[in-house]
Amino acid sequence: MPLHRCGNYERGIGLTRFEQKEIDRLYGYSTVGVIIHRDLKVVYVNDAYARMMGCHDAVDFMVDPDLVRYIPPAFHREALLLYEQFMEVIGFHGWKKVYNLRRDGTPVWLEISDETIEWEDDRALMTTAQLIDNGTTAMQVDHMLGRSFIAVTVHRDMRALYVNDAFARLMGASNAGDFMQNPDLLRFVDDQAREDVLAHSHSILHGVVAGNRRRECNMLDDGDEVWRDLTDERILWHDGKAAVLTTAHDVREEVRMTNMLVRNKNSLENAVAEVIRMVPTAVAMFDEELHVLHFNREFSRLFAQNPAVFPAAIPEFDVSGLRAIYREMVRAGHDHADRNGVMTPSGRLADIRTNRLQGGGMMISALDVTDHKEVEKQLAVLASTDPLTEVLNRRGFEGAVSRLQDIRRLRNKEWLYGIAVLDLDYFKQINDRFGHNCGDRVLQEVAAVLRSALRDDDLVVRLGGEEFAVLLPSATARVTMDIAGRLARMIGDIKLPDDDGNDAMISVTVSIGVTIGGDVGEGEIDLPTALLIADRALYQAKQGGRNCIIYADPTLPTAMMMPSAPPPPASPDGSREV
Ligand code: GH3
Ligand code: MG
Ligand code: MG
Repeated sequence: MPLHRCGNYERGIGLTRFEQKEIDRLYGYSTVGVIIHRDLKVVYVNDAYARMMGCHDAVDFMVDPDLVRYIPPAFHREALLLYEQFMEVIGFHGWKKVYNLRRDGTPVWLEISDETIEWEDDRALMTTAQLIDNGTTAMQVDHMLGRSFIAVTVHRDMRALYVNDAFARLMGASNAGDFMQNPDLLRFVDDQAREDVLAHSHSILHGVVAGNRRRECNMLDDGDEVWRDLTDERILWHDGKAAVLTTAHDVREEVRMTNMLVRNKNSLENAVAEVIRMVPTAVAMFDEELHVLHFNREFSRLFAQNPAVFPAAIPEFDVSGLRAIYREMVRAGHDHADRNGVMTPSGRLADIRTNRLQGGGMMISALDVTDHKEVEKQLAVLASTDPLTEVLNRRGFEGAVSRLQDIRRLRNKEWLYGIAVLDLDYFKQINDRFGHNCGDRVLQEVAAVLRSALRDDDLVVRLGGEEFAVLLPSATARVTMDIAGRLARMIGDIKLPDDDGNDAMISVTVSIGVTIGGDVGEGEIDLPTALLIADRALYQAKQGGRNCIIYADPTLPTAMMMPSAPPPPASPDGSREV
């Protein structure tokens, strides 16, 4: 082997080392051209290479060993850069096609390889070269890209040297030949952009910037717009000079669609904002950071700390509660949440619905239910209250008793109460004597006396007609009897003027049946039973002459027994003490 590889271990690098004798033996008569050079100054050349470059032989070549004269000026800079790069990185650097100039200036295409070697104790670059056809011709480009749907042009300083049909058509011409009638590419570029585009093209042509990709809007001769994605690449044209090969994709449709989407998105958002503005419910749209994006006047009324500034200014919102609902909803993995009767910063009650938006953020709607709740409350009061006397009616009484009972049971306390059923004596005669209106006033006065004489958690009910009952939670029989006595006295003390204004004309007495209910004795005495027992006692009071109080012991078997005959009605003025 004339060529020996010896790693120069002392220097710690593994360069292939050549000596003049060996390289001559190896390549001296080869058809492969070989040069070895440093800083683009040739230190070895064989005959084959010398002839490729238009010299007579190697000796002739070495009259001027400067390699630069064979490199087209547009590539000087690149050649030097490459050389410096190759000196840094040892070894083989691959094959490439380059354009060179012969000694007489005519172009020549070479396929070359570069390898950094050791030559006479220092690094040098060995280049081998083989002749290939003359540089890229319009025919070659046309052969490759002429029928391509990708629009292609080769140009220099924005004058087309070649275009294919696709490019010609993209720019509004019927075909390539038609287009080349006017090869000026700069006319498609906006006046203000011309200088930049020319400078860009120039920097690619001279290798200052590598090929790149960009999107550009061009104006066609007929004033149409065309959007193109362009790639620029520097090539060597067959006249021995660099040129720029540009491919262009028509992206008109894409640009049109994008614009339309942007427009639609904007108008959709406007429409949403408009709908939000119009609806009577409080509505607001929040962005991903849960800041209010769109809102309406009602939202401002419910959630602004200073609603009065709207619409002149954007209010400060207190949306901490809404954010909390949102976070809870997200944590639970839901995309909407409903919360009813939420107190808003304005002090109004609202039913709130929170919706998670797909792109992030949330939409909330809030319905002010304060008035509705108030009406509901009033309706409930109406349904449970006697309109004449404003004490509970039977239905309200039953509800109230069952609530009381539930509370006692919840607290694990025994449920015990005293109950007194009151019936005005000879009431019919009051109506008859003083008229129905006076009767009504008596009923109202009796109810007022009962209310005022009792504690807040005692219940007063008008069972019907001139019959009332009171329920005293936790009262024993003794206490209930005492209270019943007090009530009877107070009712007996009522003195009402008649319709003619005569003072103290109307007075009334009352008969009362008393018992106790709830957890009494063995089992529970429920409300209907207790009422029934008290009613029996009342009956006995009537039977006993009226204006008196009878207690019935619910634990006695006789408690529910009916007395044999009802007492006869007597005169209202025969009042008796209990
Ligand atoms: P007793 O001592 O036996 O209870 O005799 P009474 O007259 O009170 O009893 P009775 O059941 O015979 O009559 C009750 C009367 O109460 C009959 C009815 O006209 C009257 N009354 C019932 N509801 C009302 C009311 O809302 N307003 C007025 N003014 N009278 C009523
Ligand atoms: Mg009655
Ligand atoms: Mg009566």
